[in-house]
Amino acid sequence: MEVLKFGGTSVANATAISRVLDIVDAARSRGKVALVCSAISGCTDELIALSAMEPEERERAGKAILDRHNAIVNRLFTGKERKDVVQTVLDTFKDLMEADPEDYQTFGELFSTRIIAAKLRCDGVNALWLDSRDLIRISGESVDKPVTYKRIAKAVSDHPEVEVFVVPGFIGSDATGHVRTLGRGGSDQTASLFAAALGADDLQIWTDVPGIMTTNPKDVRSARTIPQISYDAAFTLAACGAKVLYAPAVEPAREAGINIRILDTFHPDLPGTVVGPFPRRERGSWVGIACKKDGADSKLCLVADGPLDSSVPGELRARLERANIVTRSIMFGSEDHILISLDHGDELEALRTCHYICFETDDAVDVFLAGEGKVGRALLDIIGKTDNRINVRLVARHECEDEAFFREMFATASGKAVFVDCTDSETIYKWYVPVLEAGINVVSSNRRALSVPYAEFALMKRTARRMRRFLRYETTVGAALPILDSINMSTNSADEILSIEAVVSCTLNYILTSGLPFEEALRKAQEIGLTEKDPSMDLGGKDAVRKLLILAREAGIPLEESDVAIEPVDGSAVQTGQRFVASIEKDTSAPKGYRAAIRLKTVGPDDPAWNVRGTDNMISIRSAFHPSPLIIQGAGEGAKMAASSVLNDILR
Ligand code: ADP
Ligand code: ASP
Ligand code: MG
Repeated sequence: MEVLKFGGTSVANATAISRVLDIVDAARSRGKVALVCSAISGCTDELIALSAMEPEERERAGKAILDRHNAIVNRLFTGKERKDVVQTVLDTFKDLMEADPEDYQTFGELFSTRIIAAKLRCDGVNALWLDSRDLIRISGESVDKPVTYKRIAKAVSDHPEVEVFVVPGFIGSDATGHVRTLGRGGSDQTASLFAAALGADDLQIWTDVPGIMTTNPKDVRSARTIPQISYDAAFTLAACGAKVLYAPAVEPAREAGINIRILDTFHPDLPGTVVGPFPRRERGSWVGIACKKDGADSKLCLVADGPLDSSVPGELRARLERANIVTRSIMFGSEDHILISLDHGDELEALRTCHYICFETDDAVDVFLAGEGKVGRALLDIIGKTDNRINVRLVARHECEDEAFFREMFATASGKAVFVDCTDSETIYKWYVPVLEAGINVVSSNRRALSVPYAEFALMKRTARRMRRFLRYETTVGAALPILDSINMSTNSADEILSIEAVVSCTLNYILTSGLPFEEALRKAQEIGLTEKDPSMDLGGKDAVRKLLILAREAGIPLEESDVAIEPVDGSAVQTGQRFVASIEKDTSAPKGYRAAIRLKTVGPDDPAWNVRGTDNMISIRSAFHPSPLIIQGAGEGAKMAASSVLNDILR
């Protein structure tokens, strides 16, 4: 069961209603639907105005409401069906005119949903109109959920043949059976109550904006859609004036563990906003700003996704003062939100300034992380502790690719987004091109993904260039050492690489420089987790080949694994003074203009590799412009360091 709710603008006229019917059609192909609708736009306001009029005036104004509905009927129906629905609308209108004026406002949803139910039936859909007044029990100011849920569940289970239940939003009744409303905007709550009562698979609130946005886009044009937001933050925004969602609609969905999706009827392909159980962050980043007029006061409410620093109110005050905006007070509403009270009339300028401060000056990055191994976890840890500019939107815990993860990323990525591959997967690289094509940058610490056959590698690079996105993988060689960047600098400046020599196997370097007999050193390396699961991978040079391929390609040499001469390490033949060295050397007689090898090399004290100890890495680059080599040396191992290098790739 899916619950779909459409607001007033979404059902404002026949064209809008046709759009709604298309969306319902798509949902119907997946299963049963409960379709909750508001009154056509402006109708509730007109009914409230009507109830305050003198009886003579009422007739004319009432007629205008009737005419608007009839115009819709005339567009949607023909022949006998049109006659029947005109009659239905007229009957509803007669009931309205006989009702207590206090109750006029409850009729808007009766008109709209009766028309829509008739249209669905006319299109051959098995649709049933349910009277919310008989289902939603309102006691005092709140909904009696046990009674309401039982009635809704029964109404639906009594009609197993029905495909679409059509439900007027906003209304219910009290214990005496008298009609009541859920408050202005209450149709959202009707939908949430139905979703909870029916254990719906999906709750969609379709409206006239692309989701919950950083603020009301009618006030601030640069407002942007929030892809995901916690129930708490959405509730605070809604309660403080973000009309896009009615605050009391949050609770039923949250209690039932159902996400609320806010979607745009006029752009149904946009991903919208998911309101769900997203955890609070250790340090809050701004999520959205709501604005509410409150008597003579206006209030802005700035909402974050975690606790805010105690210095925030002071900083905001100073920034607003610099923009000549006087505030009455700025204080914490809770750890996660700030309330700014202003004189009436100052709110719009204050809102625009706050929106600029919170959302337009920073360059927030959305991160989608695959792989929660050592490096992935360290990265999450660093981001959680220190960085406000990064929002982690999605984490795939698996070490291999997961289609659902990518689909969700494609659906939710907006603004500056980075896909971060911290897996060890051999095959995940197949996603790099589609990810780049979706406009998402790629940062990878997965050297398997970059040492794939050259043609695949070149395609990724070309796609990144074409899409003007980055594909960064500095961490794949020498962890945090700026090796690839240095090579890149030479390549970009038309310099020509003459040779590269690299000590990049932490494992082998550790073994060779330990001073212990080979077998014993290997055992120790295994114990401290330095080797691959199968240590022959290290000794056979497999990992070093990957690094060498990445190094060579960065230098513009289209090297393949088969071009590398590998001499595996024979433990029994190892001598002191040897280092495991990956090298590329210019050689015009070689097929690709370079010779590449991985082997043990005996080095003397004047060789830069001589001083490389333990898990350090070293690379020496000779180029036409720099014949005496550029040498980079330093720690080559450690999850934290690798994570900081990944972070640098994300942010630089
Ligand atoms: P519906 O009739 O579909 O229920 P509403 O008028 O109740 O629609 O809510 C949608 C309106 O909410 C938007 O047109 C927009 O002007 C306003 N709004 C206020 N704050 C926000 C926000 N943070 N994000 C999106 N829309 C907002
Ligand atoms: N029609 C009602 C209103 O305008 C309820 C709703 O649209 O949610 O407030
Ligand atoms: Mg609304």
